[in-house]
Amino acid sequence: MSVVELTGVTKRYPGGVDALRGVDLHVEQGELLAIVGPSGSGKSTLLHIVGTLDLPTDGHVRIVGHDVGRLSDRALSALRARHIGFVFQAFHLMPGVTALDNVAEGLLYTGLSPVRRRRRAAEALERVGLADRMRHRPHELSGGQKQRVAIARAVAGEPDLLLADEPTGALDTASGAAVLDLLHELNRDGATIAVITHDPEIAAALPRQVRVRDGQVIG
Ligand code: ADP
Repeated sequence: MSVVELTGVTKRYPGGVDALRGVDLHVEQGELLAIVGPSGSGKSTLLHIVGTLDLPTDGHVRIVGHDVGRLSDRALSALRARHIGFVFQAFHLMPGVTALDNVAEGLLYTGLSPVRRRRRAAEALERVGLADRMRHRPHELSGGQKQRVAIARAVAGEPDLLLADEPTGALDTASGAAVLDLLHELNRDGATIAVITHDPEIAAALPRQVRVRDGQVIG
């Protein structure tokens, strides 16, 4: 099954900037890929479109078989909640809330009871190696641990696609390497993962690289 199918995707921002110009991109289930390019090449715009946070000006977007252009805002939110997990450079954890509750909060859409949400959250935290940090709040965790909490939150609902936007950008080299190892491990367990990065070295360590420049996929 194709998880992502972009055909002829163009994105023009008000003011006339063409951030994407005719992008075709297919991602199959089980892939681990880098979307790599210099600053201003269109990576964030591509992430927003693949993540269904924004719609293209032109072209077609299908995510796990759903034609994004035909969905209502409500249906899009549901698609995003069920099928896509997001990890950001700056973690975006809720301050003052334990790691366990940060992850459990991400499962609200499932309609599971609070007890079951917390059980699933605990399993996800164990999976990322944080069994002993569940009751810690974000300010009591290192950057690398915070990012692992964010990854646990993103994968707890078993999404079809994990989108990681510069996931190591705020981390020191060792913590960044550990986060990349974790993404590899999740991929070996079946997760489909796209890592957005400006860093050619990070991209080179992943099985597939999609190179973006001036709004186009160049390789
Ligand atoms: P990257 O993530 O690779 O740095 P972006 O997708 O952020 O690239 O940007 C691609 C181009 O689109 C850049 O020229 C940027 O200035 C422009 N751009 C991005 N967002 C907006 C916006 N909201 N309005 C206008 N132009 C934008």
